[in-house]
Amino acid sequence: MRDIDLYQMLLGLTPPWRVTSVEVAPPGTGSVLGEITVRVEYPSSEKLHCPDCEAIVPGYDSRPRRWRHLNTMQWKTFIESDVPRVNCPSHGVKQARVSWAEDQSRFTALFEAFTIDVLMAVRSKVQAEQLTGISWDQVDRVMSRAVARGLDRRRIEAIPYLGIDEKSFGKGHDYASVLCDLTGRRVLDVVPERTKAAATVLFQRIPEAQRATVVAVAMDMWPSFMEARADVLPQAEVVHDKFHVVRELTRAVDTVRKGEHRQLKRDGQPDVLKKTKYLWLKNPENWTENQRAHFESLKIDALQVGRAWSIKEAFEGFWEYRYARSARKFFDRWYFWATHSRLPAVIEAARTLKRHLPGLLAYCRHRITNAVAEGMNSKIQLIKANARGFRNFENYRAAILFHCGGLSLYPHGTR
Ligand SMILES: [Zn+2]
Repeated sequence: MRDIDLYQMLLGLTPPWRVTSVEVAPPGTGSVLGEITVRVEYPSSEKLHCPDCEAIVPGYDSRPRRWRHLNTMQWKTFIESDVPRVNCPSHGVKQARVSWAEDQSRFTALFEAFTIDVLMAVRSKVQAEQLTGISWDQVDRVMSRAVARGLDRRRIEAIPYLGIDEKSFGKGHDYASVLCDLTGRRVLDVVPERTKAAATVLFQRIPEAQRATVVAVAMDMWPSFMEARADVLPQAEVVHDKFHVVRELTRAVDTVRKGEHRQLKRDGQPDVLKKTKYLWLKNPENWTENQRAHFESLKIDALQVGRAWSIKEAFEGFWEYRYARSARKFFDRWYFWATHSRLPAVIEAARTLKRHLPGLLAYCRHRITNAVAEGMNSKIQLIKANARGFRNFENYRAAILFHCGGLSLYPHGTR
């Protein structure tokens, strides 16, 4: 078999494209591993098509192009071609489509697919750079193109349950807002900051037809998110995220502990609260044997923090209700207890919960939380840790959508 026939077959070229020569630059001549350049040609006698409308159109001129392809053994392999440009009466001068690469890319579609696989496996552009042998910027462009492709292909399907959450981004106190499809367990989009304007933009990125399918949005008690939801998704209910609500109560317990600890010291009382911080914060189900014994040795009813803790633990019952009316009754009893505790931090937390009661009661109906988004957190943390090269927010967004967006990333026909 001749080399040009072999490469014609290996490349899977569609006629009339054909291989006209295979040039070999052995190791040492410019490249350590040696390079192979496959010349490909479109015969001038063949009809040309407009890439936009497929009409047969006259040729215009041609442009030399070169693409990196998958290696042949350990040899770096390139395709070179003078690609015809056509002059379409409706679309103007356009480069004819080639079957092995997308429009603007300097890589063949198969090489891009390989780079995508590498990025998925290593999650770091620096490592992908080393494994593929292309530059960081080129890896970055492959990623951006993959994300653009995926966003383009996203279908308008129902997204009944969404979650919006904040993530810290960068080194300082910069925040990003992340929107998740809770049912599809994927990130829909990310914007900088966590203001009302930012959240509004984020919700508006959902195509209008799809917005109408949103039934409820899980979120913390951050006013900006609530206001943006009211503006853009008026029909969707707010469901306050269970974990954020519990955190509010946990914080109150900790405030009470600190105050009481100081008080005991000031009064010269025995330091019974020493080393108890995590005892109060931890879920009792996760206590160690020692922690359980320690807890049982404390007379919790005589302690302020013990009372605060009991009130917090009692609230767990709220999440069991399936009917808003029963949940409301439970809340009212609990609220009475909490607000008569004479513990200012607990009273304040209870009032915060009362102000957000509709969003708490909505949990009974929808039973959604931001756990999906929280689960995504570890992935996003890893992306951040590997992101020494995050030069701007768009890079951060692309990486999140690439790894957590559930997108169809590969060039057409490669997977
Ligand atoms: Zn056309």
